[in-house]
Amino acid sequence: MIGKLIIITAPSGAGKTTIAKHLLAEYPLLEFSVSATTRPKRIDETEGRDYYFMTREEFREKIKNGDFIEWEEVYNNTFYGTLKSEVETIWISGKVVLFDVDVKGAINLKKKFGTNSLTIFIKPPDINILKKRLEGRATESKEKIHERINKALYEMEYAAYFDKIILNNGLSEALQKAAAIVEGFLFHSYGSS
Ligand code: ADP
Ligand code: 5GP
Repeated sequence: MIGKLIIITAPSGAGKTTIAKHLLAEYPLLEFSVSATTRPKRIDETEGRDYYFMTREEFREKIKNGDFIEWEEVYNNTFYGTLKSEVETIWISGKVVLFDVDVKGAINLKKKFGTNSLTIFIKPPDINILKKRLEGRATESKEKIHERINKALYEMEYAAYFDKIILNNGLSEALQKAAAIVEGFLFHSYGSS
């Protein structure tokens, strides 16, 4: 079966997780698609809630078995992927899937699911503010922040590929805008093309 899906994408640090958590708290119809990743768990993350953390060998095995809808080497030697089983379980429960994926993953999901899916790009005000947010979050080393900023410069060029763009400058405004877009899609099927 195929249900509805909402895909949030952006450069790292733009505010995807913050906005996704707000939407999940506001709309019980939404359920988060927990991805698999080979990156180390952060101190505030929980296995099975934020990600399924696994070794590269385990991840490769899942690729081989065809367990992923999509997967990417998002950063050098660090893999992320959406499990088929995760999405199917959410749809069977009658809910709408909420994704937090990188730009390439979002484009691939949109290609696959078309008008059943809504893609939302979260745009940071500028690259310096993005860097400050990543530094403020303090979850990555200086080196990893550098890698994420480099990727962000490239990802920003893809904003126009998505159904909706939300500028995340003032957080409360961004949250309001996200809620309005999501309501339109959930209850009136607006927004997806
Ligand atoms: P992402 O999931 O896209 O990597 P996060 O949601 O983790 O981004 O946000 C990165 C950091 O920026 C977090 O510390 C978060 O609290 C902060 N943040 C998010 N939105 C804003 C905003 N509008 N203004 C200031 N800080 C923000
Ligand atoms: P983080 O390490 O900050 O949690 O995530 C890094 C990047 O990987 C983010 O852009 C996030 O959206 C992306 N990501 C998380 N899960 C997936 C996934 O399943 N597939 C893809 N393609 N990207 C993902």
